[in-house]
Amino acid sequence: MPEGDSLHRAARRLQVLVGERVAVETPHPRAAAERVAERLDGRRLESVEAVGKNLLLSFEGGLVLRSHLRMSGRWQVVERGRARQGTPWLVLSGAEREAVLWNGPVLELSARATRRLGPDILAQPPDLAAMVGNLRREAGARELGDALLDQRLVAGIGNVWKAEALWHARLSPWLRLDDVADEELERLLAEAARLMHGSVEGARQARSVYRKAGRPCPRCCERIRSRGQGDDNRTAYWCPHCQPGR
Ligand SMILES: [Zn+2]
Repeated sequence: MPEGDSLHRAARRLQVLVGERVAVETPHPRAAAERVAERLDGRRLESVEAVGKNLLLSFEGGLVLRSHLRMSGRWQVVERGRARQGTPWLVLSGAEREAVLWNGPVLELSARATRRLGPDILAQPPDLAAMVGNLRREAGARELGDALLDQRLVAGIGNVWKAEALWHARLSPWLRLDDVADEELERLLAEAARLMHGSVEGARQARSVYRKAGRPCPRCCERIRSRGQGDDNRTAYWCPHCQPGR
């Protein structure tokens, strides 16, 4: 997993392109959806810095590209035009060298460097309507369990509370957002807030499904299942009987 030090090394490698006007391509279809290439192509790269777990690339005109590498992302600097295998997310080409981003699950272009977070699940009261609105603006094919961990949509839910809240709300992590009603999303978020507040206040709560794969569901005794989900392949836990879905 890329930690801060490897991000600093990547930032250092990318310095060779600073000051150059770069040609920008986004060969990977998911990167293309961000329209990064159209907006950055031909601009001068002004700086590259590692901030937290992000690499921030600033371009002339005040545009900042944020690249978060999550578990699998990698930046490489090679001679321009070198043959490659596979489909990179992003290629920034200078006169002599090019920077290539592989498996960059987070690529976001903004006018500011700050990371945009969704409403805080632990706010009192949490702004459930705004969170539901954020989830509704996502692609309908995105899986519910994956979207729940997206900090831009709802800030604060991690893998434990994702699994537990979905089980309490009887919703499968594998449902597509399209298949979940607004009321169900709101109920799910309310469960997450309730469970997390309980935890903050020190209540000892037995986990129902998190890390319980193969054990019986506390509600129906069906065997709990687990499988990796999303770009980060974080393990989802669910009861196939109480939480039916795809
Ligand atoms: Zn069950």
